[in-house]
Amino acid sequence: MNGPANRTTRRVAVLGFHHESNTFAPVPASLERFLAGGVTEGDALVARYANSHATLAGFLEIAGLEGVECVPLIHADLNPMGMITEEAFEHLVGRMIGALRSEGPWDVVLLALHGAAVAAHARDADGEIITRVRAAVGPEVVLGVALDMHANVSRRMVEGCDVLNTYLTNPHVDARERARQVADLAVATAAGSIRPVIRMETPPVVINILRQGTDDLPMRRLIDLASELARGDGVLSVSVAEGFPYADVPEMGMSFIAVADGDGDLAADVARQLAVAAWAMRHEFVGEAVTVEEALRRATVSPGKPVVLLDVGDNVGGGSPADSTHVLAAAQRLGVRNLFHSLCDPDAVDRCNLAGLGATVRLHVGGHTDDLHGNPVEVIGRVRHLDDGRFEDPGVVHGGFRFFDAGPRALIETDDGHLVLLTSRPMGNTSRAELTSVGLVPEDLDIIVAKGVHSPRGAYEPIAAEMIQLNTAGCTSADLSALSYRHRRRPLFPFEPQATWSPDRSAPRPR
Ligand SMILES: [Zn+2]
Repeated sequence: MNGPANRTTRRVAVLGFHHESNTFAPVPASLERFLAGGVTEGDALVARYANSHATLAGFLEIAGLEGVECVPLIHADLNPMGMITEEAFEHLVGRMIGALRSEGPWDVVLLALHGAAVAAHARDADGEIITRVRAAVGPEVVLGVALDMHANVSRRMVEGCDVLNTYLTNPHVDARERARQVADLAVATAAGSIRPVIRMETPPVVINILRQGTDDLPMRRLIDLASELARGDGVLSVSVAEGFPYADVPEMGMSFIAVADGDGDLAADVARQLAVAAWAMRHEFVGEAVTVEEALRRATVSPGKPVVLLDVGDNVGGGSPADSTHVLAAAQRLGVRNLFHSLCDPDAVDRCNLAGLGATVRLHVGGHTDDLHGNPVEVIGRVRHLDDGRFEDPGVVHGGFRFFDAGPRALIETDDGHLVLLTSRPMGNTSRAELTSVGLVPEDLDIIVAKGVHSPRGAYEPIAAEMIQLNTAGCTSADLSALSYRHRRRPLFPFEPQATWSPDRSAPRPR
């Protein structure tokens, strides 16, 4: 009698690989970029995550439970950008598997994944990781997986693990809590007190990024239903994955996942109820964004200020390069003045530094990364501020970040009345401290261009007269019809508006 269920101390491995891969974004997630601060092991992993609100913090919480030995192994994390290179994936996953093999045996493995990772040679990168982890530890070990809400969940992911969930908030504020649920269920499974079974429904529907906020309709209704179903007898966990529409993979889209105790029919029924509800709501999931020209016109006649224009096509949190010039170019064309606009352009920052504070410069800024994000725009103006780009925001911002590092920055006041903040690293505009740290008073500005969809809301909703989502081109455009997919499912709503779907009735109906 020496099976895992009979040992008093259960050994739990904690590890993860977190990347949201935008397959339309130009900059690849290379090994070099992962290794530049994104990989932590052992004590360093604990130091970095235990006191955060991240998934790993929820896993590490169970270290305090009696009869649990929690062993932090390795975690790899990188900001959203293009696809993961084969070299990065093989190196990092190789290290994960190596650590699992050398530090075992295990009763439980807790795996933090994003769910929308795409590697150049393995499009279902999260499924590939789950498959390799399972192969390394064997079928008896309990495998628990915690995913981001933007996961594109594949069958392989669900079938490879014992417990799986996603966040239920967007912006994401419950990562730690949801991970703790996975950890608790996995440990209870190892102890033999529950027998989780997972079922998933994937109706062919995509929810536009503009409709994904869980505090707003229509998503709030779906999340309320998920919470109600989660309270049902025998239901262990219910998840709603919104999906990540910028990853061109067959499983792209929404998915609904339920975990029930020993009852596959019950889990299937819960997942099916959510899928049916979502399918009925599909027309509400279509996003409508305003053209740049219309938004600029509205901003100029707005009685209140500042008006915040959300540059959805250059949503840095979704993997874009932060150097889109579509809005600035349109403002120049239409003679609209007084924009605050940031752009990632390290070369232009260098030239400002050479010219010096107060100097007049003539630069072609932004639009350098690719053809999707506009052309470089000529600006002539005075260098008003120079710094190293580090600033701090003790207030509430998306993701709970406090310390920011934009790299060397230059603020130009242009002759046509704009404030152009040049950064050396891609920056979404998620903090008002970004502006105050360069001597600007956000409340006094007329128009603020914020690169993002949901992430700037925490910073700007309290002061904005109005926030307008723009239909800008780019690798995170709200207009999904502008992106050329090769791997997605067909039919898929709203790409194919006549798509039909009914739940899989071949599975036995619940009692
Ligand atoms: Zn997410």
